[in-house]
Amino acid sequence: MYSTTFLDLPALTQAQGTVSLPGSKSISNRVLLLAALSQGTTVVHDLLDSDDTRVMLKALQQLGCTVAPTTIAPGQPVHITGLAGALPAHASAELFMGNAGTAMRPLTAALSVLGGDFRLSGVPRMHERPIGDLVDALRQLGCRIAYLGNEGFPPLHITQPDFSQWPDSPIQVRGDVSSQFLTSLLMALPLLASSRDITIEVVGELISKPYIHITLELLARFGIAVRNENWQRFTIPAGSRYRSPGEIHVEADASSASYFIALGAIAHGEGITIQGVGLDSIQGDIRFVEAARAMGASVEGGPNWLRIRRGAWPLQAIDLDCNHIPDAAMTLAVMALYANGTTTLRNIASWRVKETDRIAAMTLELRKLGALVEEGADFIRITPPATAADWRAASIHTYDDHRVAMCFSLAAFNAAGLPVRIEDPKCVAKTFPDYFEALLSVCSTPRERIPVICIDGPTASGKGTIAAEVAQALGYHLLDSGALYRLTGLAASRAGMALEASDAPQIAALARTLPVRFDAEQRIWLGDEDVTLALRSEEAGMNASRVSALPAVREALVDLQLSFQQLPGLVADGRDMGTVIFPNAPLKVYLSASAACRADRRHKQLISKGIAANIDALRADLEARDARDMNRSVAPLKPAEDSVLLDSSALSIEEVAAQVLSWWQERQPFGRD
Ligand code: C5P
Repeated sequence: MYSTTFLDLPALTQAQGTVSLPGSKSISNRVLLLAALSQGTTVVHDLLDSDDTRVMLKALQQLGCTVAPTTIAPGQPVHITGLAGALPAHASAELFMGNAGTAMRPLTAALSVLGGDFRLSGVPRMHERPIGDLVDALRQLGCRIAYLGNEGFPPLHITQPDFSQWPDSPIQVRGDVSSQFLTSLLMALPLLASSRDITIEVVGELISKPYIHITLELLARFGIAVRNENWQRFTIPAGSRYRSPGEIHVEADASSASYFIALGAIAHGEGITIQGVGLDSIQGDIRFVEAARAMGASVEGGPNWLRIRRGAWPLQAIDLDCNHIPDAAMTLAVMALYANGTTTLRNIASWRVKETDRIAAMTLELRKLGALVEEGADFIRITPPATAADWRAASIHTYDDHRVAMCFSLAAFNAAGLPVRIEDPKCVAKTFPDYFEALLSVCSTPRERIPVICIDGPTASGKGTIAAEVAQALGYHLLDSGALYRLTGLAASRAGMALEASDAPQIAALARTLPVRFDAEQRIWLGDEDVTLALRSEEAGMNASRVSALPAVREALVDLQLSFQQLPGLVADGRDMGTVIFPNAPLKVYLSASAACRADRRHKQLISKGIAANIDALRADLEARDARDMNRSVAPLKPAEDSVLLDSSALSIEEVAAQVLSWWQERQPFGRD
């Protein structure tokens, strides 16, 4: 996940490959409860790992279900052995539901029907989320639920029901506050339907029908065929009994799929394959596919996959009622930037009451990119920038709204070749923490568009530390080129080679095939060996300095260094980053500090690691290494002509990093006209 303050996406051109999307939250928690109520073991694949599903899994274990394994790991199914429709006699538990509405409501219904002695509570926010309509519906049957705090809200105390006064009339539930109340009844009441039909009647307009559709589809998979009369009356037939389907796959989230469907329609390349959700998905947002096709996307699919390519180009403008796909329709608003005319998205009043006022947000941010946008109470009308020259480089504000962040990433495919800045990229965590990683893993762009910041300078100038800080702040990759020379020196000396010209061809051959790997924790591996510490020794530095003076070795390491220039960008540190390896880098910093100051820093660093050191000897070493690096014939240490010089002798790490970042910001086009 990118937890930087912003993420700059360079202009992108191509996309191809396969993405696996996270599982749907709505489906995950329904499947867990249904498996728990069924007889037999259900093997659940592709379960979403999120706060809500963890809460549900824990509660099910407290109720006596066998869950294995107890934590959700990628690619590993979870086995749930159900309760076969009944809890042990005198069951009792204190259940903590966190802020998981998708656990609180259905469990309240199921437990009050099954009976026992249960207390259900959550975080303070959960105690502000209404549950009264569901409790009222359950009380009509004889369920016993008491409020432990405020009337109408959790926490709740559930005890043994009394079904002796079972009503003849249908059970009534309001449908206009949350469809989760109806979903909860639909999942709990089959437990009571062994000898009679049970009918639920919706009072008021039923909202979010696509979610009820998901519930009904999943009930059918677990053996319960509900009769749906016009979304107003639902009957669970007598004799209904939960049966495990044996195995079930949780579909990937169809709303998340919309970004990759759009990507396939916009980008050059061989197309995008989405794993985990297909054309027969039970999620309402799968109908985004129809809208994307209307705009020109070429979409094929099977039961569990979709494949998307560019079809018509430019895309076709559309005029569409989006009431059935409110979330995914935001993606259409960004696709409209690539259309041949004006696109109107109608019947989207619900956008105004989501994570943010989405009509206002989309209008403002699309305008920043150069589009002409008209907004109404319940529509948005978008005319793309007339020509490439009319596009603007924009910093997109994301309003803590995951969908704003995700859909605007697609603006990086603009014909003007402009980058797009996404502010607060971590807001995607709500549904898709690794969205940007997934996106960048299938996107590409000509190498020269991927920004590189070079931080060069003499040994112990602090360039490694600064490079790491800057890379972290921008979410960029990091190339520690010194480590490559250190590794080469280490491998060569272990192989018994002389670190001088006579053995240069052998050392170069070794350098070309170094089995090097930098891991996410900044450790450096040579084959299976963690050599991070070994590389930091003074001896490794001296050896590096020797092998780096050999032209053949430098040549051998060029391709490896270039291969670090990857999306979304790179910070490269070393002596010749700006002069030789990345001569076109838009920012080159030459970091220096006096020899005394560098010797002092190195001394402190060694002492803090418990390594004994002598400051005068260190200084002499540094000066010797400087002299060798500056006077060698190949890539001598010197500032690139277009580099900015920064003497860090009197500055803290934070000050130096802030200075580099501020130079970087000055070079960005965002916010300028
Ligand atoms: O930066 P570090 O101290 O890890 O680099 C070790 C040695 O590798 C340097 O003293 C220098 O001789 C060599 N080097 C180089 N070119 C680079 C990076 C390091 O010659 N780009």
